[in-house]
Amino acid sequence: MLPLDPQADPGRRAWVACPRCADAHGCEPCEQRRTCSTHWRYLLTNTGSMLHLQCPGCTHVWVHESGFGATRSAWDRATDARPGF
Ligand SMILES: [Zn+2]
Ligand SMILES: [Zn+2]
Repeated sequence: MLPLDPQADPGRRAWVACPRCADAHGCEPCEQRRTCSTHWRYLLTNTGSMLHLQCPGCTHVWVHESGFGATRSAWDRATDARPGF
């Protein structure tokens, strides 16, 4: 298990299925792609539409291409615009 990233903040979440533990399997709100209160991931950083995520369950870290970078619709509150990153 990796340690939680120092940037992991419960106030910045993303609802993306974890590719490692599949903990949302069989969960109704997740399968309907709603914002589940149980299954969410830490949004560490995002660069354009690339989201750096960490699963609070298995601490797996991965990059997810959200496709939302241009519109920023769903990710406005999650934007972490660190200069130079
Ligand atoms: Zn996981
Ligand atoms: Zn769920």
